[in-house]
Amino acid sequence: MKKIAVEEHFSTFELGEIRKAWTKRIGQDVEQNPEAGMQLVRVLSDFESFRLPQMDACDITKQVVSTSSPSVQGILDSSEAVEKAERINDLLYERIQRHPDRFAGFATLPMQAPKEAASELERCVKKLGFKGALIHGHTNFEYPDEQKFWPVWEAAAALDVPIYLHPNEPDPKQTELYRGYPEMRGATWVWGIETGTMALRIVLSGIFDAFPEAKLIVGHLGENIPYGLWRFQSHWAKAVSGGGPDEIKQRVKLKKSPTDYFRNNVWITTSGNFSVPALKCAAEVLGPERILFAVDYPFEECAEASDFIENADIPERYKQMICFDNAKELLKL
Ligand code: MN
Repeated sequence: MKKIAVEEHFSTFELGEIRKAWTKRIGQDVEQNPEAGMQLVRVLSDFESFRLPQMDACDITKQVVSTSSPSVQGILDSSEAVEKAERINDLLYERIQRHPDRFAGFATLPMQAPKEAASELERCVKKLGFKGALIHGHTNFEYPDEQKFWPVWEAAAALDVPIYLHPNEPDPKQTELYRGYPEMRGATWVWGIETGTMALRIVLSGIFDAFPEAKLIVGHLGENIPYGLWRFQSHWAKAVSGGGPDEIKQRVKLKKSPTDYFRNNVWITTSGNFSVPALKCAAEVLGPERILFAVDYPFEECAEASDFIENADIPERYKQMICFDNAKELLKL
């Protein structure tokens, strides 16, 4: 079954250095085997020797490629982030041009400078043909729903392209809950909770009322949201009834319910979550038209992702939508 994969990463030596400095800064300097680290950079920066053969083996006709975390969002200085984002997007464009039938791109954005980030998104979509942007969670501990970032959402809505919200390491203040259990960090648990919470913040912020055309993509089968959405909605309704606390009253009242936004403005992907029961739950809660195939290359195996969707006991037409049709329509491929 032909597939378009939408959370597939690349990196460069320079982005690897940004990542090192960033993990040190947040006190999560996970000591990595230098040899393994170099091999990961080689795989991430490659488009042809490792990547294309794996895509071929799994019937992945196209990868929509994005940076690995934290990309330029790990930089402290705004103007440095602006300059590097432009250079990295140009590099990705050049790589895509070598195999335009096999690759498409999501822009990396210098969120430290929201107006410049909005302009960079516009340049990437209009001049480089990118399909949207992928942002890595918070930027120097500011969350993407905050008012200062709304120019980016406004630009994405005007350009009719989605923003993919990808995990990043949390603010060190948030990690106390995991004290004594470092194995819960990262993809095991922390990223899902962190990113799912940010997606909920975006929904509650009113961004989708201000910009009804804005579109959000969330990976890992929705970062736990499909399973928890009923309870979220139920207690959200109680919390806001009668206006709720001042902090809620000061915000503009939402026009729709959280579930409505998830079914109209949000898409989820299968990246790194190859559970059939979770897939069925997501399809039932959000609808099969809102699910896109993704691997999370090279952090997950293409073959595992591919076998999972091909062998899942869901209707064949769902598979066709998830593997290909939904991405083709959403990203105008
Ligand atoms: Mn990823």
